[in-house]
Amino acid sequence: MSFDNKEKFKNEIKKLFDSIYDLNNQDFPEEFKFLQLNEQDLLKSKKRNSKCNYVNCNERAIGSHSYSRDFLNSITQYDDEIFCLNLDNMYRNMYINREDFPLNKKHINNAGVENLFCSKHDNEVFERIENLRFKTDLDTYLYLYGYRFFIFEYYHENMTKKELQPKIYENKSYSKQINKELQEKYLSDKEYIIDSLDNLYNKSNFDEVKKIYDKIFCDNSLPTCKEFSENFILKKFKLKGEINFFANGSMAYKNDDSDINSHLPSVYAIVPDREYQYSYFTIITPKQEEDSMKIVFDEFDKLYHKYIKEDNKEFLKCVMLFILDCSQNIFFVEKFYNRLTKNNDIDNIKKVYYYLAQARLFNDISADLKQIAYEYISKINFI
Ligand SMILES: [Zn+2]
Repeated sequence: MSFDNKEKFKNEIKKLFDSIYDLNNQDFPEEFKFLQLNEQDLLKSKKRNSKCNYVNCNERAIGSHSYSRDFLNSITQYDDEIFCLNLDNMYRNMYINREDFPLNKKHINNAGVENLFCSKHDNEVFERIENLRFKTDLDTYLYLYGYRFFIFEYYHENMTKKELQPKIYENKSYSKQINKELQEKYLSDKEYIIDSLDNLYNKSNFDEVKKIYDKIFCDNSLPTCKEFSENFILKKFKLKGEINFFANGSMAYKNDDSDINSHLPSVYAIVPDREYQYSYFTIITPKQEEDSMKIVFDEFDKLYHKYIKEDNKEFLKCVMLFILDCSQNIFFVEKFYNRLTKNNDIDNIKKVYYYLAQARLFNDISADLKQIAYEYISKINFI
């Protein structure tokens, strides 16, 4: 295809997907709110049975903060609430409106909290990042955060496994309000989503990475960067300025014609430093993926050099692009959120998130959809 035709084709795609986006953002019919109640009960029952994800531990998991409560406390102003996107928000909003990127204010006691570890392991493993009494070196600190973020993702991967099939809670009063036809549609839609997720992602790759972590913790219950770096590569980039935005997620990457499902996922994250003054963008990659990730590392190295020397913003755009592509746990500091809303930039971020999700679903036009995501990200005023 010539360049002009390629541009035309991309613009047609953009027109089509923008109109789907607008359709999706309409409110649902009234009776859907009963599905919403069913959905919440389903989520609650799934969570109730969570076990600790530490190696060989079978204790009940408690709510673990992905980002420490102390850190969240330090960046909220008066009301101890923060704007965030996480899967709970998505569940909560799924049948109220179909917005892909529901940002809600959440109390810091619950923001980014999931049932990841039992209380013993939550404390034992992570006190080295949460308690300044421990003189944890930077790399160990970032690796430990990476482990927690990985488990956060691993937990969510397991939540969508087939054995946790959806159902209608017949004994609840709201179920009478959902007519048979809608019940059937709901169940078949859910099944379709679970099936397509199963086809799209090979969850066993998450199990593989979990095994690497398990072995590290089996050999040494207090591993340092030395033990982690025998199995993983840590890339870290110090970001300029105060912390406005932070998020974490995992995904696999490929740079050739290979199957994406043959690659192990890396963890991408924005992590506060220990004093919460600034943040790092980090990538933690299993050693097996060193070759396939080289192109990503080189690109970030190159852009970071320009970011530091020339104040070039391409680096931040690239960070946002990767983070929004993989993250389901995203936070905006209120001041920053307000600024984004005032400039309509929050809508651009939502569009970026939407286009990246579509790019994952539509493999054939994935490059065009990513290009459109990049165009939306370029509209955002980062500073
Ligand atoms: Zn445990």
